[in-house]
Amino acid sequence: MATSPFDALIAGAGPAGCAAAITLARLGRRVALLNRAPSHAGWRIGETFGGEIRPLIERLGAAAEFASVPRLAFRAVRSAWGSAEAFERPTMLHPYGEGWHVDRAAFDDALKRVAGAAGVVLSPGDGTRPVRDAGSGWTAGGVVARYLIDASGRGGPALPGRRWIQNDRMIALAHRLPARAAGGELLIEAVETGWWYSAPQPDGGLVAAWMTDPELARAPAYERWRDALALAPHTSARVGSPPDDPPCAFRAETGRLEPSSSNEDRWVACGDAAWAGDPLSGDGVARALRSGVAAAEAVHRALDGGVLEMDAEPAYRTFLERQARFYAMETRWPESVFWSRRR
Ligand SMILES: Cc1cc2nc3c(=O)[nH]c(=O)nc-3n(C[C@H](O)[C@H](O)[C@H](O)COP(=O)(O)OP(=O)(O)OC[C@H]3O[C@@H](n4cnc5c(N)ncnc54)[C@H](O)[C@@H]3O)c2cc1C
Repeated sequence: MATSPFDALIAGAGPAGCAAAITLARLGRRVALLNRAPSHAGWRIGETFGGEIRPLIERLGAAAEFASVPRLAFRAVRSAWGSAEAFERPTMLHPYGEGWHVDRAAFDDALKRVAGAAGVVLSPGDGTRPVRDAGSGWTAGGVVARYLIDASGRGGPALPGRRWIQNDRMIALAHRLPARAAGGELLIEAVETGWWYSAPQPDGGLVAAWMTDPELARAPAYERWRDALALAPHTSARVGSPPDDPPCAFRAETGRLEPSSSNEDRWVACGDAAWAGDPLSGDGVARALRSGVAAAEAVHRALDGGVLEMDAEPAYRTFLERQARFYAMETRWPESVFWSRRR
């Protein structure tokens, strides 16, 4: 490993970290990207992208690698939200056209390849926490760098001592089901104990996730999953007979890091590590790519003597308002714990 300091150390090789790494490397900076292996046996959740992903991928010079990622056209959103009936909205009306359902692990790997080709040094990040070094900046995994970009995802700041403020405690209990006869649409269906989303996968399978609060999914989780599925006729029709094994649990809360940058300590957070939104928005990956680029540009300016500043607060506030409007549209279960917390 090099002993002279890198310009930036990026903790987290998800979309935000890769976008930051690619951008900084193309600006001529020396970048190390810490890459912790994901949990859940390599399964990455967050697999449906709207058309807005297209210009972002092109801007990162990742179109050729993206072409190799297994994907399906994302043709419509069908939602039973605020009513038992499901309504369909085609995605071709989006200004950038329809999006994709992708193999998300393959998508993240494609971004890492683009980063490697841009000159980024990929370094294993297992169990590594970057440490502030009063002299040169930051160290982790044998890497020394002047600036740190925290791109470690939702709720787990790469550094101890930072405050993650949760707006709710939502979790996702999800299954990846083998070949199911599902159309090309994303299905969203509200139930008394939360809401469901299901999305077809390029290999013919289906991802089906129940979004709920932890105490509504108390063990055995697979029984609660089945109970919740029985409340969702549109999703049940797609899933067919539910699996016997327990679903995988993912954090899915809305929350933010406070503060999201420090000029004095030379770090900035981006993507979900800065603030993470309710997956209902369906645009977390596009947001992470944008935020990674913005963090890289901020660090680039700071390396030239500018002030490092990124304020996540305004975008987060706007998101919370939009989220509240969405949840207010569902009025069917006035006594429900899940819904009354969000109205
Ligand atoms: C249930 C669910 C469904 C979703 N569906 C969608 C969807 O359909 N479309 C969409 O656009 N978005 C969706 N999202 C949101 C989307 O997945 C996230 O917004 C996006 O992954 C954020 O990217 P990121 O790079 O900020 O973080 P992440 O993708 O979480 O990447 C962070 C990376 O950092 C690594 N890491 C953590 N700590 C360290 C460390 N100390 N050192 C090194 N590495 C570290 C992690 O292993 C991970 O690889 C969904 C989210 C959930 C929970």
